Amino acid sequence: MVHVHFWGTRGSLPAPIDASAISAKIRRVLRTVRDDRIALGDDATIDAFVARLPLTEAGTFGGNTSCVQLAGGSNEWTVCDAGSGLRAFGDHVLAHHAEPQTYNLFLSHVHWDHIMGFPFFRPSYVPGNVIRIHGCHPDLRAAVARQHGAPSFPVEFDQLAATIEFVTLEPGRTYDIGGFTVTAMAQHHPGISYAYKFAIPGASVIYATDSEHAFHSAEDAAPFVAFFRDADLAIVDAMYSLGEARYAKQDWGHSSNVAAVELAQAANVRHLVLFHHDPANDDRAIDRLLFDARRFEEITRAGTGLAVSAAYDGLELVVPDV
Ligand SMILES: [Zn+2]
Ligand SMILES: [Zn+2]
Repeated sequence: MVHVHFWGTRGSLPAPIDASAISAKIRRVLRTVRDDRIALGDDATIDAFVARLPLTEAGTFGGNTSCVQLAGGSNEWTVCDAGSGLRAFGDHVLAHHAEPQTYNLFLSHVHWDHIMGFPFFRPSYVPGNVIRIHGCHPDLRAAVARQHGAPSFPVEFDQLAATIEFVTLEPGRTYDIGGFTVTAMAQHHPGISYAYKFAIPGASVIYATDSEHAFHSAEDAAPFVAFFRDADLAIVDAMYSLGEARYAKQDWGHSSNVAAVELAQAANVRHLVLFHHDPANDDRAIDRLLFDARRFEEITRAGTGLAVSAAYDGLELVVPDV
């Protein structure tokens, strides 16, 4: 089985929730308690009530940019993208493991939202750690290193204490890395991005962010459908609504919630996770995109159907072996 932990799910720019949004949630919940005459006697009743509330009221999709951890291949760490969510992941590992660790980071591309967490990845400051940064772009090192040093950052890249290696992967080739069979595929995005497929016997996960799926013909779609074919879990860029993607933000390099569902359906994916949420969207706007995606899936369903979720910072999923 593969465990998937989402440390950052926002696109383009971190988007922390603000005070007015939190107070609006509290007011809505208190009105529900009042209007429905809910008796909140002891702490256990309150806990049960809060557990029933939707994420839009008792939580948030979160604000960190792309960072998704996969576990199941080996005792090496596997992480997709080094967005601002990488800071929390690194702190979590350091809090639980005193001995040196090996990290395999896979970069979809080197746009800033996908690498901005690296200067705050504390394992890179610890001698003995090995960090391998994998990607298909030839300029991985330059992109990561230039975030460090004057005038932008107090620590030069070459001062980092961990052993940091850059590994250029070739799309279409299959690699054995960190216990996973890994394959990359080029996607439509300014400067190109790459999707990754991670497989172990009986389970496969696709990480496919920053990709514009707006297929004009079956020929356009075919290579993507083949890459996604029968995946157990697919984490897919669904930044926009269909209207935004088609009319206002065409060629911006991102997909709609509807395009993500269409691709997952065509490829017989079991579970689709909407990802790379627009920083302009609040929790209720993201929840509407999820609602619409599920509704679209329902009315176009053929066969057993597709589970659709929206990623949030802190979401953990288990992909069982089939
Ligand atoms: Zn992005
Ligand atoms: Zn991008």
